[in-house]
Amino acid sequence: MVYTLAGALLAGLMWMLIDAWRGYRVRAWLRHGDLAMAPNMSGWWGVLAERARKLLRERERSIDASEQRLKDFLSAIQTSPNGVVMLDAQAQIEWCNQTAAIQLGIHPERDVMQRIGNLMRDPVFTAYMALEQPTESVVLEGRGHRVERPVRISVQRHRYGEGKQLLLTRDVTMVEQAEAMRRDFVANVSHEIRTPLTVLSGFVETIQTLRLTQEEQKHYLSLMATQAHRMQGLVEDLLTLSRLEGSPVPGMNQVLPMSRLMQSCEQEAKGLSASLGQGGEVSHHIHFVMNPLLAEAELIGESRELQSALSNLVSNAVRYTPAGGDVHVSVDQGVDGSLSIEVRDTGAGIAAEHLPRLTERFYRVDRSRSRESGGTGLGLAIVKHVMQRHGGSLHISSQLGQGSCFKLVFPASRWVRMRA
Ligand code: ADP
Repeated sequence: MVYTLAGALLAGLMWMLIDAWRGYRVRAWLRHGDLAMAPNMSGWWGVLAERARKLLRERERSIDASEQRLKDFLSAIQTSPNGVVMLDAQAQIEWCNQTAAIQLGIHPERDVMQRIGNLMRDPVFTAYMALEQPTESVVLEGRGHRVERPVRISVQRHRYGEGKQLLLTRDVTMVEQAEAMRRDFVANVSHEIRTPLTVLSGFVETIQTLRLTQEEQKHYLSLMATQAHRMQGLVEDLLTLSRLEGSPVPGMNQVLPMSRLMQSCEQEAKGLSASLGQGGEVSHHIHFVMNPLLAEAELIGESRELQSALSNLVSNAVRYTPAGGDVHVSVDQGVDGSLSIEVRDTGAGIAAEHLPRLTERFYRVDRSRSRESGGTGLGLAIVKHVMQRHGGSLHISSQLGQGSCFKLVFPASRWVRMRA
């Protein structure tokens, strides 16, 4: 009996000791909560450890998922073409993406927890940051800004959370340049139209107020017709340009035979030369030469555009070459399979510094010469556009006083040697 009791007591003691040991292991594990070290045991402590392990794993999974979401979110903001800077309540940088760093000239790691005002000292920015609730964005000079190569960055500030701020930045250099070009364009068009309009209304007034002989009237009317013609030419070129900008790239189902293009441009050139010369005679040596191997070649694209491109070059060659000079137009095939049409003249030539700007709208080397001969300043802009739309290019070379050479180069995909 005594032995039985002692045995039971001993067994109870043993069980308590084992239980305490298990409890100790579970407690010790819970202190660091490392899932890989979870104790594996039976009994209540085992059940408890297993539950704790499940809860810990769920929490770990949810933390992992949140971290992944945050990473995805940040890498999405990183790839944004716009800049993002997050500021805390003291206007210190908490985080910024690479774009903002480049645009504003800050360092995405080194400058964290720096006050943005200490890093960006542009007075326009300082004044903007001092505003309580800015509604508009502000435009600053970005990193690397130079007068000859401007960099303009728009910054928009938003408040969020408790006193935190978000700066959104955007490179608006191109937008501003496009806007400036649009303004210049409108100013140029207005100026170009106003000049002949002023002359025209002056003549109308003269005819209305003065007693003119029939001869004088005829003279004034012919001058008026010239001005009206000029305005018409300008409007036509403007419409051509806007058509070129607004219509889809020419398809591959229209063709223009080279021979037809050459013939019509030759006629035009001779007509123009005759109208500029004395006594209605063709006053230039005009040669249109076709490589016999290309006699049946056809250009693939929009006929009207292609016609207008070559016609502009030929008309320039005639207008900028004094009477008696040569205008030579030839067609050839390049080693890469391209087709080129070259318009060469022995006219005034163009100084090298003007060459890169010739295809800008309304850019003229000699304004009065261009006007006198009926130029609009849009011809080469049209040519460049047409060539771009056909996957081709325009090459210009010239020597002052010697003459010029304008070459249209079409890729192999834009012409065929002969009709199928
Ligand atoms: P424009 O209507 O004034 O001729 P373009 O755009 O056709 O306008 O040409 C731009 C400028 O390029 C002209 O004003 C002229 O100064 C110059 N230019 C074009 N073609 C020639 C040429 N063949 N020879 C000399 N200068 C030329």
